[in-house]
Amino acid sequence: MTKFEIVPGLVYVDRETWGADPDHPRKGYKVGRDRRTHVIIHHTVMPDTSDTSPNLWETEKEVFGMMKKLQTVRPDLGMDVPYSFVVFFMAGSTKIIVCEGRGEDRTGAHTKGHNSQGIGISFAGDFENKAVKNYDIAKRMFLVSYFLGWLKYSPSHPDYGTFKPMKNLGSMRPQDRAVFFHQDFKKTACPGKKLIPHVAQVSFIDPRLE
Ligand SMILES: [Zn+2]
Repeated sequence: MTKFEIVPGLVYVDRETWGADPDHPRKGYKVGRDRRTHVIIHHTVMPDTSDTSPNLWETEKEVFGMMKKLQTVRPDLGMDVPYSFVVFFMAGSTKIIVCEGRGEDRTGAHTKGHNSQGIGISFAGDFENKAVKNYDIAKRMFLVSYFLGWLKYSPSHPDYGTFKPMKNLGSMRPQDRAVFFHQDFKKTACPGKKLIPHVAQVSFIDPRLE
């Protein structure tokens, strides 16, 4: 069971910690880390309905509850979180929580044709239809860049283990940005017009250089 900060404000939570239902074990097939070449951004289209900020999450309880919901919400994609990781914007701070979905080493079920070589990262909420302030997205996008850099350069932590970096991550990318959007591969609004201008600016920042 692991929860740790990669850099201040960027919290990583593994499946055990968010309480993944063991009746729905991790799905997918093993993928070597060298085979990961690109990142694909999604949104979950499942907003926080408990208050007036549908794309901000107030408590860990809400975050962990949503992760458990994501295990079963799309049985057509299999009874597991379809994404590699899910990012939550926490209310009242710049903090983000990244929850492990399929994780670093298994195929996802998020982008047809790209579930083995692609890492699917989904933002929790509905960034097409639901309200969110640009500033609330912009002020923590650098933490997303640190997470991407952590995967690429140093995906280890004393409380987590020592793992091989995904050294080829980001070698496949669109001409003008570091990551793909779901809509680059499919006719869809995903990851949402409110998120797109911000995610277009992320990069792979190596957290070891801090
Ligand atoms: Zn998507």
